[in-house]
Amino acid sequence: MERLQKVIARAGLASRRKAEQLILEGKVQVNGQTVTELGTKVSNNDKVTVNGVPIDKEQLVYYLLYKPTGVISSVKDDRNRTTVVDFFKHVPERIFPVGRLDYDTSGALLLTNDGELANRLMHPSFEFDKTYIANVTPIPSNDQLRQLAVGIKLEDGMTAKARVQLIASDKEKKTASVQLTIHEGRNRQVRRMFEALHIHVRKLKRERYGFLGLNGLHPGESRELKPHEVKTLM
Ligand code: URA
Repeated sequence: MERLQKVIARAGLASRRKAEQLILEGKVQVNGQTVTELGTKVSNNDKVTVNGVPIDKEQLVYYLLYKPTGVISSVKDDRNRTTVVDFFKHVPERIFPVGRLDYDTSGALLLTNDGELANRLMHPSFEFDKTYIANVTPIPSNDQLRQLAVGIKLEDGMTAKARVQLIASDKEKKTASVQLTIHEGRNRQVRRMFEALHIHVRKLKRERYGFLGLNGLHPGESRELKPHEVKTLM
């Protein structure tokens, strides 16, 4: 939600002052209703017209970022750390991450200015698979792998079924790589699932977000989604 005068000003129709004047003069309508209050807030879904003419809305944009570790998944940070949005200085739209990856987690992260889609993708009922590669120590036993797949009891309840596969292990170093696909997205879920089994996650990477993989991207790189990919997300 944003202040109406800001939305009008950004559409290039007027300065912020002039936009305020247009509102006070009763020349602005939101969803067909004249609005004269300067504090009014509108979303991208509201129809704003000035003198009956619709204003240009911000284009909806969708990007996939290979988030590096050491970056926070928010728009701003009060401690001035690098955020995922800092990788999009060339993008004029005000994009934000869909969900989050921990500061120490790398991998596939979607960013958009489409609030409606973001809300839908983040809703727990939306069963979008996320595939992680966890580098862990010690090596999980077969029984522990089975427990991860069936469900782990966490403080916030049992986890849903997961697909789990041991993909590599080093007996000398007591480390292993485990691929885990879940559709839930609870806070620090993968780390907490392993911790519940006394297994430490040394590194965590999300290699797929639904059908979106990291092919061709290096950490810190991003690409715009193709129209058919956006359509599939809808
Ligand atoms: N699970 C975690 O523990 N961390 C993430 O960043 C994502 C999933």
